[in-house]
Amino acid sequence: MEIKKIGILTSGGDAPGMNAAIRAIVRAANYVGIEAYGIYDGYEGLITENIRKLERVDVSGIGNKGGTILGTARFPEFKEESVRRQAIETLNKHGINALVCIGGDGTYMGAYKLSLMGVPCIGVPGTIDNDIVSTEYTIGFDTALNTIVECVDKIRDTTNSHGRCSVIEVMGHHDPDLAIRAGIACGAECVITTKEDYSDENIINVVKEAKKLHKRNCIIIVCEHTIDVFHIADVLNKDGTYETRAAVLGHIQRGGTPTAFDRILASRLGDYAVELLKEGKTGVCVGVKGEELTYMDIVKANELPKKYPAKLVKQFKHFI
Ligand code: ATP
Repeated sequence: MEIKKIGILTSGGDAPGMNAAIRAIVRAANYVGIEAYGIYDGYEGLITENIRKLERVDVSGIGNKGGTILGTARFPEFKEESVRRQAIETLNKHGINALVCIGGDGTYMGAYKLSLMGVPCIGVPGTIDNDIVSTEYTIGFDTALNTIVECVDKIRDTTNSHGRCSVIEVMGHHDPDLAIRAGIACGAECVITTKEDYSDENIINVVKEAKKLHKRNCIIIVCEHTIDVFHIADVLNKDGTYETRAAVLGHIQRGGTPTAFDRILASRLGDYAVELLKEGKTGVCVGVKGEELTYMDIVKANELPKKYPAKLVKQFKHFI
């Protein structure tokens, strides 16, 4: 089937660099004579018919903007086949005969299921969590990591002035990549990456060890969904080795200007998605391994075992 019009949507949590990907897809499509259409608010836009043609000028100057100009949404109804059938009717009505879906593994499943129903779809990894195993890096991860480093550096300044300990929760959605890399970049004293890593007794030993080394401050980074940072602060305040404060960085990690790394990654992956659609590929997701662009069947990609950065964790221990 010759592809004449493609739709682009962003879905799940937003990530800096999504706009650079949208821009690249529109430009790459136009370059080969394909029209591009923005579908607003993720898969929901296919039901509400929130669809607009994107000309090349519509994506001028968005590559350096955080968030997503298309908006994003969680739309669990898309798991139902009847809802997807309705979405396909909308696509047919607009003459859109292929989709590029930017998001995480949930977004990938939506794309895969549509592809099984005959709509060529490609998944592009857009999430700050770096939790998609089929690619070395997801769009937004590098920006989020740099935001975390900047925030932790600032917290460290005041923590040091007061001779305190700070316990800081970072995002990652069960994936410890952001936490461990932030720990290395910020010179943290401890990173908690899994529930199993943690006991009250161990964390007290960590700060006592820091005190023995004459450290004036102590930084503990905690991956979200592991241990409550306010609980850890309570434990450490009761222990009394350092006065302790807790902070949850929260959504600040998802916003902001994408780094050059994310802009380039997003541009390359967006362009590659259009190339694959032109070649007739469907139900696959794109990724990067070193300098190489890769693609893989979405189901296979989502079934890959989660990676644990064991080497980074081991090396981290040498820097304390
Ligand atoms: P993040 O990593 O930021 O959470 P994500 O893409 O994994 O991103 P989800 O909320 O899991 O975020 O999925 C985004 C959307 O994809 C859902 O709201 C839904 O519309 C669609 N989706 C998720 N899982 C499925 C599925 N199994 N079948 C069809 N559509 C799905």
